[in-house]
Amino acid sequence: MEKKTGSKFLRVKCNDCENEQVVFDHASTSVKCNVCGRTLVEPRGGKAEIKGEIIEVLT
Ligand SMILES: [Zn+2]
Repeated sequence: MEKKTGSKFLRVKCNDCENEQVVFDHASTSVKCNVCGRTLVEPRGGKAEIKGEIIEVLT
């Protein structure tokens, strides 16, 4: 049985400028770094693809 996928917030570090930003792991639109504009999250019609380094999972 698959667990119900709880959506979470993740603290992600940008690979380019090391800015840390909190993003939603089921984002339906792409999320860009607030500092340099690099894409941090790509929507995948469910759980989003995280393009940076996940520092922390916030529950
Ligand atoms: Zn950045």
